[in-house]
Amino acid sequence: MTSVSPLRLFVALAFIAGGGILASQMPQSGQQFIVVIAAGAIALFTVLQDPLPTAAPPTDSLERQRKRILYQGRAEAYQDIINPISDPILLVRNAKVAAANPAAAQILGDHIVGEDVRIAIRHPAAADRLANPDAQHTGQPILLVGVGSAEQRWELRIHTLQDGLKLVQLSDRSSRYAAERMRTNFVANASHELRTPLAAIKGFLETLEDPKAGKDDATRARFLKIMYDEADRMQRLVEDLMSLSRIEAEKFELPSEEVDLRDLVGEARDFYINSRGKNAKDILVKLPTEIPLINGDRAQLSQVVNNLLSNAFKYGRKGTPVTINVAPNKAGTMLYLAVSDEGEGIAPEHIHRLTERFYRVDKGRSKSIGGTGLGLAIVKHISERHGGRMEITSEVGKGTTVSMMLPISNKS
Ligand code: ADP
Repeated sequence: MTSVSPLRLFVALAFIAGGGILASQMPQSGQQFIVVIAAGAIALFTVLQDPLPTAAPPTDSLERQRKRILYQGRAEAYQDIINPISDPILLVRNAKVAAANPAAAQILGDHIVGEDVRIAIRHPAAADRLANPDAQHTGQPILLVGVGSAEQRWELRIHTLQDGLKLVQLSDRSSRYAAERMRTNFVANASHELRTPLAAIKGFLETLEDPKAGKDDATRARFLKIMYDEADRMQRLVEDLMSLSRIEAEKFELPSEEVDLRDLVGEARDFYINSRGKNAKDILVKLPTEIPLINGDRAQLSQVVNNLLSNAFKYGRKGTPVTINVAPNKAGTMLYLAVSDEGEGIAPEHIHRLTERFYRVDKGRSKSIGGTGLGLAIVKHISERHGGRMEITSEVGKGTTVSMMLPISNKS
């Protein structure tokens, strides 16, 4: 079906009329016939020449194609916005991934664009909401486990955009969940550590209530001694727990006192000689004649020296000395503090875990010699608060050195 423009129709009619007038002027009928035929042919040619195509009414598929181009254009426009975002972001339309930023491609794979979102994110609750066009997205996060690596925890949020597009945002919450898990474990461990001596004390009290056991002096004295020891253990544990929480609370407060490590080391040495039955030959101190002051918290640094000495004596071989070394580094910016023993040493696989709370190489042994499992965790926290660097080096059968580099005071 073609249509004729009014102008062409007018020109054709003009040719026919002109041909008719011209033919009427011709003397011979043969000539009139030729003129009429020629005018008619020109008119017909004018009308039929270069017909204008009729615009076809839009069909469904064309309309859909047009929309698709439009939609793809929008997804591409969003692509520029989502690319620099560090959280993984997906754009989803009709349950298919329309676009993904590089962070999403990294954890879900490069192939996800164009893929069904239920395959890209294999999580029933998330997939259900993403694939259902009528789902209401309240902004409530969905917890995803097993996307990326097995330990990672993600929060998935869905936001509705225009034209049926959904924006899917994944936020990495692994460190928050790890911190929560650590806290829960810590509470469980601390409760367990306290419950054991408490149960022992209760058990002996019940035994002593029995008139027969209570009357026997030797048994009574033995039980009382155990009860005292267990109560001491509980006290040490509670004191260490309180120390740890105080140090953690002050974590971001830079210590401001000027501390002389020479004094601290001297005090600790005197304490072990005067109150813990050690001799001068049991503690060797290596100090240069002049040592710079450090910016620190005196009480906390004293706790570091005491904890390290206590461990060195607990785990050092009987009769061997413990050595304390203090020296500035070559650049004169840090002070090195180290406590070494000649004990049984620590196998390499344990070393990186020793500063975890309640981690012990030999639990039974640590407990039997009065350990709380918190000493090195406290040392590590104090070192961090002082902007220091802690290191544990050990050789099985030879001994262990726990050292720390502490920043020297600017005023020194
Ligand atoms: P504890 O109260 O059990 O001594 P710490 O936190 O001070 O707790 O130390 C954790 C563990 O590290 C100890 O149980 C012990 O196994 C090991 N350890 C610490 N210091 C030494 C050392 N000088 N020599 C050998 N092992 C050590």
